[in-house]
Amino acid sequence: MRASQLHIVTYRNDPADAEVTSHKLMARAGYIHKISAGLYVYGPLLWRTLRKISEIVRQELDGIGGQEVQLPILQDQALWERSGRWPVYQASRTMLTTKDRKDVVYGLAPTAEEVVTEYVAATTKSYKQLPLSLYQIHTKFRDEIRPRFGLMRVKEFIMKDAYSFDADEAGLDARYEAFRQAYVRIFQRAGVEAFGVDADPGDIGGSGSMEFMVAAEAGEDAILIEEGGEYAANVEKATSRLVPSPSAGEDERPLRIEDTPGIKTVEQLHGFFPAVTPDRMVKTVLVKAIWAEKEVPWAVLIRGDQEVNEVKLKNHTGGLALRMLTDAEIVELTGAEPGFAGPIGLSAAFSIVADHSVREMKNLLCGVNQTDKHALDVNPGRDFPLPRFADLRTARAGEPGPRTGAPLVVKRGIEVGHIFKLGTKYSAAMGAVFTDEGGRPKPFVMGCYGIGVSRVAASAVEQHADGMGIRWPVAIAPFEVAVANLTPKDEDLAAAAEGFYAALKAAGLDALIDDRPLAAGAKMKDMELLGFPFTVVVGRGYKAEGTVELRDRFAQTTESVQIDALVATVVERVTAARRGLLPA
Ligand code: ATP
Ligand code: MG
Repeated sequence: MRASQLHIVTYRNDPADAEVTSHKLMARAGYIHKISAGLYVYGPLLWRTLRKISEIVRQELDGIGGQEVQLPILQDQALWERSGRWPVYQASRTMLTTKDRKDVVYGLAPTAEEVVTEYVAATTKSYKQLPLSLYQIHTKFRDEIRPRFGLMRVKEFIMKDAYSFDADEAGLDARYEAFRQAYVRIFQRAGVEAFGVDADPGDIGGSGSMEFMVAAEAGEDAILIEEGGEYAANVEKATSRLVPSPSAGEDERPLRIEDTPGIKTVEQLHGFFPAVTPDRMVKTVLVKAIWAEKEVPWAVLIRGDQEVNEVKLKNHTGGLALRMLTDAEIVELTGAEPGFAGPIGLSAAFSIVADHSVREMKNLLCGVNQTDKHALDVNPGRDFPLPRFADLRTARAGEPGPRTGAPLVVKRGIEVGHIFKLGTKYSAAMGAVFTDEGGRPKPFVMGCYGIGVSRVAASAVEQHADGMGIRWPVAIAPFEVAVANLTPKDEDLAAAAEGFYAALKAAGLDALIDDRPLAAGAKMKDMELLGFPFTVVVGRGYKAEGTVELRDRFAQTTESVQIDALVATVVERVTAARRGLLPA
């Protein structure tokens, strides 16, 4: 490819709305162009990268028996009603919707479990046709609350979504493991360093899931990792070994109710009763779990020094979404001003659950649903009925990890992939069955597996960029090597550059010749920004010493190479770089 004929557009300044490196650099290098919030054009150079990422994905998924298909983006409401997910996506407002001329309502695929389940149910009747793994690389739409960070979080993006269908759980387990290993290879081959973490399955659902994270400061996810690496989980899901309350094991003292005028928060209460530390208090968090047709108030008990994890709580309630009670609702439902709710004398309107952190507590302090009063020396089971216990707590850095007890440290990550064991969630709901060996109808046992193809490109930029620009891993770079002639007017140099370019292409490299009539400085700046892994610079040394420069953008080195040795050297370097990304 000739740069003079390629639509290369670079800018000196970062876009005003760019907060993270990948957004800044991809916009400046012209890889992306914003049309409106969360909607981008992928320029011709980025498209080459996206095709290369897609090709790696294809090879690895074909390698584990995946078959590529293409599913419709417009998915009618009736289909989503059958899985029960229409109201879920309406509640979160994630799904963009549209209507056809007959007023049939469609969602724009945020994911495609319903469509693929429908397809497989209609076409797969017997266990003999299983297992089946289907995938597509296609546009997805999500009406994100806050599209931002360039390609990281957009309304329209490219996802590889795969779906597996097995006859039983053991089959699913094998498929899930095969996908997990394929994901490890995909990210390695693409040159992005990603690691797997325990994850919450979110609105996709299912029994188990793992996210693949690229470590980056700009990451929107917080991950807790045990020092030593035995355990890693998204904070939405992470647990820890909690240091017990100092009150555990104390003799029960008689309950007393004290006036606490205007004293509401844990800090204020600790100030008021200095001997009562937050880990001797129980907070009562009031929320409503929301369904399409109803709202249910929940009271959540948790130790005063801990925080409720919203994702865990939402999962526990089974609601489509959660919201805090308004002050007016608190007064109405508890009979007290906000800040005084508690498990004693709580209205039966509330469903009650307690975090495990409350379990061993004795003589605790809590609200009693009376304005300006709190109870001390409260004992669960004696002073209020023992509630159900669940893990509802947000694990925190510094706490001992659940696996080895080594302290948890927090890292930020970008989620590039997510794999799920769905089980029969969709097949059972939608009546998608096959006939098993004994002639009985059975629901398919499913898994689903996503990779944000466009987000992978942004993550690679985020992970590898330096002060001068992008550094693409060789496997996903728009071009592996560029030949830059610094004096295109000089016919000898132009001919030499053309010769190198032709030879590199003939040697099987994905090469570009930068034959644009640009000043040398501008050209080199462009090359650094665009981030091709290798650049051959044909300049002064060519005539003076019979050498050209070979720049390795990734290693940030420049070497002077004899003209005769140039092609062999570049081939060797590129081959070594390619090999460096191949899984063992
Ligand atoms: P997130 O938590 O970042 O919103 P998610 O968990 O909702 O993502 P999944 O449903 O697991 O996403 O989708 C599979 C993959 O698609 C994600 O791992 C991610 O790489 C990519 N992805 C999801 N949402 C977006 C988006 N708005 N823009 C770009 N890529 C996305
Ligand atoms: Mg996810």
